[in-house]
Amino acid sequence: MKYSFNFENKRVLLQPSFSFDLSVMAIYPTLVSGGTLVVLPKKATANFMVMFKVLPKMGLNTWISTPSLMDICLMDPQFKPAIYSQLERFLFCGEELTHDTAQRLKQRFPNAQIFNTYGPTEATVAVTSVEITQSVLDHYSRLPIGYVKPGSRIMVKSNHARQGELIISGANVSKGYLNNPDKTAAAFFRQHETQAYRSGDLGYFDHDLLFYSGRTDFQIKLNGYRIELEEINHYLNQLSFVTQGVAVPKYDQQGKVQQLIGAVVLKQPTDDQLADSGKLKQALEKLIMPYMVPQRFKFYQRLPLSANGKVDVKALITEVNQHD
Ligand code: AMP
Repeated sequence: MKYSFNFENKRVLLQPSFSFDLSVMAIYPTLVSGGTLVVLPKKATANFMVMFKVLPKMGLNTWISTPSLMDICLMDPQFKPAIYSQLERFLFCGEELTHDTAQRLKQRFPNAQIFNTYGPTEATVAVTSVEITQSVLDHYSRLPIGYVKPGSRIMVKSNHARQGELIISGANVSKGYLNNPDKTAAAFFRQHETQAYRSGDLGYFDHDLLFYSGRTDFQIKLNGYRIELEEINHYLNQLSFVTQGVAVPKYDQQGKVQQLIGAVVLKQPTDDQLADSGKLKQALEKLIMPYMVPQRFKFYQRLPLSANGKVDVKALITEVNQHD
């Protein structure tokens, strides 16, 4: 199944707030196809211990969330088929689904289907999807975001390289931002009489399968090197002793990137942060170019999440640029 999901008679998780377009992905397909929306109360997500008690009682068949929420659920050893016996399908959208998260989920729920979907609010949520089977996991170290759904078109805009900005067009693309003609003109345009949107996402096609490679605005320059922060994140999250990590830039007074800082949650942190940092550097040096390895690491018990349940990279950038 590539594009459409049938929620008939299914109990579908509704977790994100209504201001996050991911909620749309649960609400309308479920109600239109005669399924049941099961709402996870906001106060449950505020306290993970409460959430771990509430979730098993919801009788869910279909799970829809960001991968970040899944990372939290995977910390609970009780998050397994014996407790969630009816859970048969997981749908992710809103941020990158890492290989590590998908593989750990597949190991916990070997018989469930996992889908990665991609799309921005401006294109009415998901415009691509792909099932992440064990063979997809074996084949790709960075997972595909999917096949483009019928009625939408995605073009890779680049001068010569295979990778470029993803331009989404189709009837699902919004007319623009309310009362903001300047921002609208910068992001939207007409293409062959269809509305088109400059996503700010970078990606490439391998035949008809689309891959995401980062945001145009998460590209930085450090000592002249162009660095894709999400590429570092990808390798950081592949390390077996890392639960979650993101690389963030630290700026000097002129606003130039001075160094890279890795914000990391370790699986088993020690008291010796210097040794932990050394271990991270050594492991990364084997995977990425030396100029991409963060110069410093900051350790967290949990990375901050935005109201939408994504890792709040902007909050981390603000933090590392404040306290030092
Ligand atoms: P939002 O409009 O808040 O849902 O955010 C949309 C943005 O989230 C996209 O433009 C991408 O940058 C990111 N995004 C959504 N889905 C994925 C995905 N499956 N993989 C990587 N990034 C994603």
